[in-house]
Amino acid sequence: MTEKIIKTIKTQLIERKKDLEKELAQFTSKNVHIKDDFSADFPEFGDKEDENAAEVATFSDNLSLEQTLEKSLRDVNAALTRIEKGAYGTCKYCGEEIEEKRLVARPVSSACVKCKEKKLSQI
Ligand SMILES: [Zn+2]
Repeated sequence: MTEKIIKTIKTQLIERKKDLEKELAQFTSKNVHIKDDFSADFPEFGDKEDENAAEVATFSDNLSLEQTLEKSLRDVNAALTRIEKGAYGTCKYCGEEIEEKRLVARPVSSACVKCKEKKLSQI
């Protein structure tokens, strides 16, 4: 893993982080007490019964979207932290280097393919 590749990956991760935060900002409020925690806003369409039903449906969609985006954001932040600490690209289970191909394809990876497969077979 060369400096150059890590730099490229870092740039991608920062872009991804910005995108995720922008997306989250559209329908959530940031929790000021917990880092990287967001709460979906309850939408306001009107007071009619069908409008109320649409509000509930949209809110429930937003909740699951919020969780997906939040998880991605956490993964991105964790990867950025590993880069800062100089620990990027090392498998969290076996300590071996993660294949470069894998990191380029999925920069938030924190485990090598072998350990990932082992983990998956245990489930
Ligand atoms: Zn491993």
